[in-house]
Amino acid sequence: PVRQRLLVVANRLPVSAVRKGEDTWSLEISAGGLVSALLGVKEFEAKWIGWAGVNVADEVGQKSLSEALAEKRCIPVFLTEEIVHQYYNGYCNNILWPLFHYLGLPQEDRLATTRGFQSQFDSYQQANQMFADVVNEVYEEGDIVCFHTYDYARHFVSACTRILGLEATPEGVEDHGKLTRVAAFPIGIDSERFIRALDHPDVQSPFKDLQERFKGRKVMLGVDRLDMIKGIPQKLLAFEKFLEENEAWRDKVVLLQIAVPTRTDVPEYQKLTSQVHEIVGRINGRFGTLTAVPIHHLDRTLDFYALCALYAVTDVAIVTSLRDGMNLVSYEFVACQEKKKGVLILSEFAGAAQSLGAGALLVNPWNISKVAETIGRALNMPSDEREKRHRHNFHHVTTHTAQEWAETFVSELNDTVVEAQLRT
Ligand code: UDP
Repeated sequence: PVRQRLLVVANRLPVSAVRKGEDTWSLEISAGGLVSALLGVKEFEAKWIGWAGVNVADEVGQKSLSEALAEKRCIPVFLTEEIVHQYYNGYCNNILWPLFHYLGLPQEDRLATTRGFQSQFDSYQQANQMFADVVNEVYEEGDIVCFHTYDYARHFVSACTRILGLEATPEGVEDHGKLTRVAAFPIGIDSERFIRALDHPDVQSPFKDLQERFKGRKVMLGVDRLDMIKGIPQKLLAFEKFLEENEAWRDKVVLLQIAVPTRTDVPEYQKLTSQVHEIVGRINGRFGTLTAVPIHHLDRTLDFYALCALYAVTDVAIVTSLRDGMNLVSYEFVACQEKKKGVLILSEFAGAAQSLGAGALLVNPWNISKVAETIGRALNMPSDEREKRHRHNFHHVTTHTAQEWAETFVSELNDTVVEAQLRT
């Protein structure tokens, strides 16, 4: 039997720390898919290892922050400001991120990137060593690390064979007789938590307000971190094209876009923010009236209840990620749609497309005309087709939950341990 501990190693901890005094800290939990999913998992004792988002140079600060974070089951890695700049803003965001999301480097960045490359790479190695040191301290035999998309697991195995020269089997990677099982475990949500919340007064009240506010119009919804990978400009352009081509819909549909600020200190993200604002302004200018605008764009995070109310009031949710490990927003939307049976437009490049593909309308977010056309199809979809598609998605979301994910994970892991014992 395996001790069920899960070490989640990520650049950022799921909490942001703000220093209040010499040894006092205020901690705030941040929104994100992995955070929400792991909150729903009861099987594991999950521990997070990562950077807390602040530079803490003094010993008193480091000690008191470690203690405060321990209560949230978080263990900090103390990166310095310079390392964060070179390793994270530099190497990770400018080089690794575009490569791992199957995007090329923008032409004008290539030269600059080549110049800064060596020092950024040195910092990258240094930061990785700092993470490895902390993991080493915390690690106990049997602890777990995971992939949730098949392609990523496969790429990992290829990297092990090509770079490290290890032997790959259909099961994973073998290193001198020691087997590391590699498999994809698509994560899910705590669907019950969302379904239960819908009856809660804190959801019902904003739900009724929204319903009243947008009476006579179909509500479309986007909920994303304001990240390049979420394809928000692509979504807005497709919506604009839809309005252009469908005059009759102009005062009958509204797009609510929640854009949660993320990595606000990185210039590319600041550029994205102004780009998005510019497009929203243009569309609202073109198609708005004195009393109504087609897009409501919010640059902020919503709490759980407000989010549930939004999911429940929506007719068409639209996810246009250019890449996305999973995209839990699409799962959460489906969980909140038992009454309405709304339509999900989903990027084929989101991990969720592999599980909700049969119920959703899949799109390639780069194909603006096609997305615009799909918006029309979703808004006009007859109720029997909506019902059928929703049934499919709802079944998946309520059976492939975070709970079930943890159980599968643990049982697969136990099988691997048994198999390894049989070999020796
Ligand atoms: N979320 C939230 N408040 C918001 C917007 C989003 O708590 O205002 C949560 C949302 O419920 C979801 C997560 O953030 O669980 C986003 O996860 P997803 O997998 O869709 O994308 P990620 O941000 O991890 O790339």
